[in-house]
Parts: sequence; C-alpha cells; structure tokens
Amino acid sequence: MERKNAWNFYNEQDLAAVEELSIRYRRFLDAGKTERECAAESVRMAREAGYRDLLQMIHQGASLKPGDKVYISFMEKSAAFFRIGTEPLEQGMNIIGAHIDSPRLDLKQVPCYEEAGNVYLDTHYYGGIKKYQWFALPLALHGIVVRKDGTWARLSVGEKEDDPVFVITDLLPHLGRERNEQKVKDFFDAEKMDLLIGNRPVKEQDVKQHILEILSETYQIQEEDFLSAELEIVPAGRARECGLDRSMVLSYGQDDRSCAFAALHALLGDGDKEPGTQGCGRTACCLLVDKEETGSNGATGMKSRFFENAAAEILAMTGEAFGKTPIQEVTFDLRLRRALLHSRMLSADVSAAYDPAFEKYFEKKNSAYLGNGLVFNKYSGGGGKSGANDANPEYMAKLRRIMEEHHVTFQTAELGAVDQGGGGTIAYIMAKYGMEVIDCGLAVLSMHAPWEATSKADLYEAVKGYRAFYKKML
Ligand code: MN
Ligand code: MN
Repeated sequence: MERKNAWNFYNEQDLAAVEELSIRYRRFLDAGKTERECAAESVRMAREAGYRDLLQMIHQGASLKPGDKVYISFMEKSAAFFRIGTEPLEQGMNIIGAHIDSPRLDLKQVPCYEEAGNVYLDTHYYGGIKKYQWFALPLALHGIVVRKDGTWARLSVGEKEDDPVFVITDLLPHLGRERNEQKVKDFFDAEKMDLLIGNRPVKEQDVKQHILEILSETYQIQEEDFLSAELEIVPAGRARECGLDRSMVLSYGQDDRSCAFAALHALLGDGDKEPGTQGCGRTACCLLVDKEETGSNGATGMKSRFFENAAAEILAMTGEAFGKTPIQEVTFDLRLRRALLHSRMLSADVSAAYDPAFEKYFEKKNSAYLGNGLVFNKYSGGGGKSGANDANPEYMAKLRRIMEEHHVTFQTAELGAVDQGGGGTIAYIMAKYGMEVIDCGLAVLSMHAPWEATSKADLYEAVKGYRAFYKKML
C-alpha cells in the first residue's frame, strides 16, 4: 500500500490556505480551553455565519425550510449545528460528531487548604492522563463559580501575558533515589496532585485567609461557593506552531478540538460560498459533545438523548416544508427513527500517530502518520475488537470514492498494535440508531499529554474531507 504525504500535493495557493486555516484553528484552540468555552466559541462562529438559535425559533413557533441554518446549545457544554437540506429529514442526515472535552484536572468541591505555609487547591483528574506529565509546568485555572443566588463568576487565570500561573510541584532529582526504584503508577499519587496557589500571609491573617480575600474582592465569591463551581486546570499558554518548518501545531486539547474545529469549519465555511441547498440535498449536522473522555455519560454526553430530541424538533419544524407525502400517514416517532436510521456519520476523533520512539506499541502498516492526511479508523476498541464500532465495508467503500473524487489525502489506521491497549469514541453510541458510523479524524503525537502535536496539512485534509462528506454522502 502506497502512503501519500499530503504536503506533496500542495501548490502555492493550497499552502496559503493551509496557513490561513492553521491561524483560525489556533485561535479556536486559544478561545476554548474548556468544553464550556469551546461550546461558546463554536456558537459565536456559527452565529457569525448566519446560524440562528433553534430554541428561540421553537419559542416563536417558526418553521424550517431548505437552506435554513440553525444551532442548539445543550447546557452550554454541547451543541449541534444543522444546515437544512432539500430532502426530507426522514431520508437521513450527514452528521459529523466530535467531542470538545479534554483530559485535565478538575477542582474538588471542597478544594482549598493550607499546609506548611502554602495554599493549595485539591484536584480530581478528568479523563485519561499520565499523571507525571502534569507536574512542574505552568497551569491555568478556567471555569465558572455559581453563587447561591444564581449569579456566577467566570474565571480564566493564567493565559494572559501578565497573568499569574499555578503549578503542581515535583520532587527534586537529588532526593529521588527511593522513588526511582518505584513503579510510575505508585509514586505519582493522584491525591497529592494539588495546585499551589499562594504563599503570602498579609496582616496577621494566615495565607489561606489572604487567598480567600483575593477571591472575594476579585470575583465576589466565598469559600462555600466552590461547592457550586466547575473549575478546570489546564496547561497555561497558547497553541503554537511547531518545528523549524512550522509544519505542525503544538497545543493543549487537540483531542478532540482539532476534529471539532474541522467539522464545524467545514460546515460553516461551506455556507459562505455555496448555499446549503446544493450538494446532495441531505441535511448536514455538526455535533459537538461533552464528557467523551469519561465515557459519554451525563446530560451533555453522547449517551444523553439531547441529540435525538434536537432531531425531533428539526423534524417537527420542517414538517410543512415538504408538503403532503404518503409518509405523513406514519407516526412522528417512526419518522424520527427513520431520520436517524438513514443518517450517515463520521465520528470525528483523533487517532494515535506512529511514533518511532515507541515503535513496539504500533504496527507500521496499520498506523496513522503525521502529514499523511485524514485518518479513517474502521474500528477502535481494545484487543479482540472488544467494544468496537466496526464500520461496514460498504460504507468505507463509499467514503473512499468520495475522498478520492474530492482529492482528499487520507490514510487508514488502528489504535496501536493488537493487545497493546485501545480506546473508544462516540461512534458506538450513534450506531445504536442503526446509522452507518465510522471513526475519522486527525493523527496526533503525544495524545492526552498537556501538549499534543498535529500536522497543519492533516487539518487541511480533514476540512476538505468533512466538507465532501456533508455534501456528497448519500
Ligand atoms: Mn478523543
Ligand atoms: Mn481522548
């Protein structure tokens, strides 16, 4: 099998487009370092592209017609964006779904304590992290604190040039003799991963009291308000270009905001030049969800029915637009089920890029390579394909044809060598409706690390591939 490097196919114009896209992408990453911030930024981008709030339209009793562009936000942590097609919804949608939560450290409900003259915030990690990667690097604090009266304070500390940052301290190597003999999992204790946030007593107060005073003055929050907070600790700093050739992007949160950005940009950008009624006529949907990294549970995770409910709303609102058909004889519920059954989906999630430093964990023929384009994972899961959504060959064949017709550089991969581990995505959850689903996204080096690397070319190919999918999949 011949491997293609996407960079080899670019002319001057393509290269300029790759750079422009990468700038937008890095801006997107910087604007959304939590699921909440990322959802807000996504909605902002959609509104700018002419998308209207579905909930408001429902409230106004509005209907939908082909070409309409709408979005719905779920608890400000997940969102879906629809471009209504010319074909009845019952014939299915072309859906690209990505997740916008990323591995990080969350604050506990009672986080603040003083020890040895230092003030700390106690954490509980979120998602799959390698604990040692989070010590001794600048960290930022993001999130919201909701007061008892329902008002809230939004925090983002550690991102601006003159902001303070925070840190989880590590043991010096000089005293590491005993520790070096231990297993990694034993000497990084999650219960000791606490954020250092202060060291200075002021006017007879203890250090913690001083910190609480700062919180009260700056954000009008009291210690008890941590009980109703959603505060997340993420690596401080912006997304950067990586490499002397500037071919890559190094940033926090590229699992899975690289795919989220590509999926959203492919939908919105498309609308600038060509109205949604072109292409194959199916309704296109970009779905951005929360909680993937912890198993997709909760009201904003993919296992929640918010998407099904949104599809029902869309179906109800487009009802009149398609006139009388024999299909109107069947129940609404059946029509909804048909709409979901006949949908096609790309579960847009990242894939592990082959890393020569860790050769034995990969199988070369079936690995993704940075710069080799959009990755299709026919199946994910662990050894024995356990828990995998294994896509149908008929579906993969259609995708190959569409990608080739649109000159998208793509590759195929499994997540690592057989029996070396595995992982899951939201693919299997949407497959429950009976729709065709396949995993498809960018290759990432150092996945789940505080700083992950992707290729600018792969992002460009992802946008091209996703755009082709929205338009051409039948
Ligand atoms: Mn992911
Ligand atoms: Mn992940």
